[in-house]
Amino acid sequence: MSFFLPDTIVMGTDRTWRHYLQFLSQLGVTYLPTVRLPERSVPSGHSGRHVSSSSAVERTSRVSRGHLRSPNELRPDSVQIPAVFSATSEILDGPLSTMQEKSDALCRLADIVAGCKRCVALADTRTQTVFGVGNADARIMFVGEAPGADEDHQGEPFVGRAGQLLNRIIEASRLKREDLYICNILRCRPPGNRNPLPQEAANCREFLNAQIRVVDPEYIVCWGTVAAQNLLDEKRTIGKLRGVFHQYNGAKVLCTYHPSYLLRNPSARKDVWDDMKILMRDLGIEFN
Ligand code: SF4
Repeated sequence: MSFFLPDTIVMGTDRTWRHYLQFLSQLGVTYLPTVRLPERSVPSGHSGRHVSSSSAVERTSRVSRGHLRSPNELRPDSVQIPAVFSATSEILDGPLSTMQEKSDALCRLADIVAGCKRCVALADTRTQTVFGVGNADARIMFVGEAPGADEDHQGEPFVGRAGQLLNRIIEASRLKREDLYICNILRCRPPGNRNPLPQEAANCREFLNAQIRVVDPEYIVCWGTVAAQNLLDEKRTIGKLRGVFHQYNGAKVLCTYHPSYLLRNPSARKDVWDDMKILMRDLGIEFN
């Protein structure tokens, strides 16, 4: 869908932009690609405050993200998050204190994700989006990489054999699945279970950040290299990242091997167990 971006815009307040973005939203626009237009001269003799079109685009991304730290602020890196007309900003600007408010916000975000077609190849081949499940007010968030075939069919992250192994790890750690919030870097299944492409991860980052913002976990566990490297903007392997806490947006982040890797390499189970003990000790849960 094309949209109208005026050459120059007389700016009043941020609210002006919000109204403009809401107008675009009503037209069905949910996404603006990053564009840099050439500077245009400001007409002389106008008393209003003019913003050049390139400034206008930069301003769009700042305002639309509301007070959520933008994906690029959270993750300054080589993969630039597209300048997004944030379909999520209105939700994130609302109250997010109580369990009910958080649950409602997640439901609204899931509705937006269900219609997302930013990654055309994934949107064309998915059975459904896999948004996330669990406690909207969880202290611990699990982040995996992307839905597989089972997740794509059932609409839930971490089901199938890897999910069953994760359940056993959760149980052994004296946690319950309903105490957690579980989601992925991507919300759509990559064909053939390939790894997410950098652009796909960038496209989906707005939704991951929104889920983190709503749930506001104290701990995030990244399961596998894809989750760890994407969340933390890291190039190091999971073997180098595991075993210590990292920080992300105020949460302590622990990285460990993905359950599907454990199915292929059972000897790595001890490392995962060591990582879970680090988490549980920090939570104040004692082990023998
Ligand atoms: S992976 Fe994320 S950004 Fe891409 S189409 Fe699915 S929901 Fe949209």
